[in-house]
Amino acid sequence: MDILNIETQIKYDLHCHSYFSDGELSPDELVKLAHENGISHLALTDHDTLDGLVEAKLAAEREGITLISGVELSCTWRGQLLHIVALGVDERSELLLEGIESNQRRRHERAAAMLEDLKRHDIELEHELKHVLNGAVPTRPHFAQALINLGYVKNKQKAFKKYLVRGKPGYVEMVWPSLQEIGNWVNASNGVAVLAHPLRYKLTRSKLVTLIQEMKECGIEGIEVSTANTDPQQIKVLESLALEHDLLASIGSDFHSLNQPWARLGSAPELSSKLDPVWAKIT
Ligand code: AMP
Ligand code: MN
Ligand code: MN
Ligand code: MN
Repeated sequence: MDILNIETQIKYDLHCHSYFSDGELSPDELVKLAHENGISHLALTDHDTLDGLVEAKLAAEREGITLISGVELSCTWRGQLLHIVALGVDERSELLLEGIESNQRRRHERAAAMLEDLKRHDIELEHELKHVLNGAVPTRPHFAQALINLGYVKNKQKAFKKYLVRGKPGYVEMVWPSLQEIGNWVNASNGVAVLAHPLRYKLTRSKLVTLIQEMKECGIEGIEVSTANTDPQQIKVLESLALEHDLLASIGSDFHSLNQPWARLGSAPELSSKLDPVWAKIT
């Protein structure tokens, strides 16, 4: 009986990254780890790319778990960078593909401008960055790794303190698509869109409520309620927001690397049964 229970256990993790964006593992390794960690339903949500999904699906078939097609899209709202996780998307949707392509173009433009800015501070990162990227979509963690490799900083935290953030070398302001654009892309692809890690933007409660109202008008219907490394009090805040505003609730670790034990794959706590789970709407 126990064995049966273990085998039929359902466990979701709907937010993680592979080396097609800023993650450490290949999609294959990621899916293997998901299976080892007892996950039955995994969404791969790389930053602004769908490129890891083919490999992830093959691995999921082999491991006997369900792979949900996802992507984490960069968005700008009132000057603030937001991340919107799209789940259950149809990867053939032309509007979504065009949108992702435009975000990738912006990432490449930003990376070139970041290299230029670092050069003005006598840091020549181009060669090392190319080596670190190895074909991935360029993200700030890749710049952080290149800075570490060349001895400018000891670790990623320091890289995101001395460089790469507003006011520091290597920071380039970027305007990403609006909530409306992102909502349109995700809805055209039959996916469901959720606001990633809602408390990481450090918005006041009233500004967060305004964001939620505007998101909903744009067809972005959910928020992540259960995230890794979040204290129970914060999860309660997110639960109450989801219930008050009739939002779909999502769950995701935002796993990037084995070196970040605070965001282990599958470590986001189970959602409260009071909530309307996002997976009910994923087709
Ligand atoms: P980007 O989308 O290229 O601007 O990079 C954002 C990514 O950088 C996030 O998804 C995180 O993975 C990572 N990141 C942001 N801030 C930090 C930080 N302080 N320390 C380590 N990683 C960070
Ligand atoms: Mn990331
Ligand atoms: Mn994010
Ligand atoms: Mn993420």
